[in-house]
Amino acid sequence: LKNTCSNSFQHKDLIIRKTEKRFPKPKNTADVPFGKIYSDHLLNVDWVEGKGWGKPEIRPFEGFQLHPAAKVLHSSLELFEGAKAYYGIDGKIRIFRPQLNMERMRRSAERCAFPDFDAKEAVKLLKELVKMDSDWVPRCAGSSLYLRPTMIGTEPTLGLAESKEVKLFMICSPVGQNYFKSEGTGVRLLADTSFVRSWPGGVGSYKMGCNYAPTIYVQQLAAKRDCHQVMWLQGKEQLVTEAGAMNLFMFWKNEQGEEELITAPLDTGLLLPGITRRSILELAREWGEFKVSERSFTMADVVKAIDENRVYEFFSSGTAAVVGGISEIQYVDRSIGVDRTLRLPTMASKHKVMQRMYDTITGIQYGRIQKDGWAEI
Ligand code: PMP
Repeated sequence: LKNTCSNSFQHKDLIIRKTEKRFPKPKNTADVPFGKIYSDHLLNVDWVEGKGWGKPEIRPFEGFQLHPAAKVLHSSLELFEGAKAYYGIDGKIRIFRPQLNMERMRRSAERCAFPDFDAKEAVKLLKELVKMDSDWVPRCAGSSLYLRPTMIGTEPTLGLAESKEVKLFMICSPVGQNYFKSEGTGVRLLADTSFVRSWPGGVGSYKMGCNYAPTIYVQQLAAKRDCHQVMWLQGKEQLVTEAGAMNLFMFWKNEQGEEELITAPLDTGLLLPGITRRSILELAREWGEFKVSERSFTMADVVKAIDENRVYEFFSSGTAAVVGGISEIQYVDRSIGVDRTLRLPTMASKHKVMQRMYDTITGIQYGRIQKDGWAEI
């Protein structure tokens, strides 16, 4: 992908239509569940082949009309993003690294055969929407306004082909802090090798809706075993990739006896390039206190290290909860009759790598810590 896109929609063309009826706001956002209520406005911009992008519009939040044959409803031509706006201790609203979300969205768009756009223009529009609904950014500690930019193929034809009509929209939803409701005790994961999320040559590294639909059923199986999330292993080697909608990190003493923070690499195309993942890697490299690696590791490596007491912390990372400590992995490999519960000492770790990452990243998000270019106002 090129750095810029010459025929993008433009922020300067923005049309604003304010709502006349404001929605009631939740009284205490700390307890608001994820993605159930929405702010007063949304942003919309449509593209038509031959005509290009139309004018972006901020308009009252309301449903769209979709033709029943719209491509999104049949061949899943859909992609989305997830970012957050935070109300800072200084009263300023910050969005965490939105340029990275919009660059990732451009890559997903290319893979969906959707039109390209300029990421900078998209960031400007996202900021404009947040400014418009700034009173929806929750003031409670730990809460935020979740931002969901989305693109869908709207052309009303059933043929399996690219969509000649595309809609880009952005909606906002206030969220409380307790994403997993497991704070303190840690998250339990189900790693069952009968299910895979991604494969070489697939689209696991793009944020396309088609990656998520097949995971819901597996998530239900995990819930039946009292697990919060699914941990995804890949291939014969049982590579550790990610868990739920989060990337995975292990802080351990490796086979060479070195303290190392390890996460799966991106070049396999098997996992989503998380913005929190990238931020954790950048911070850990700045700290320079231990080895930081993006390289493949397997379930066998994890099991051996747990058995030898070499795992200090195992945690997930993502926009939803920044980091989430993992306390247990239920490892199921039906082909060899394994069903084993692995306990992890993450929540009692003296190293506090995960905790320091959480404190630093939330510090930047809420304006307690300044870091150039990481929190855009
Ligand atoms: N993996 C998957 C599959 C995801 O959907 C997400 C959420 N976007 C992540 C990882 C974490 O990415 P980020 O840190 O950008 O939220």
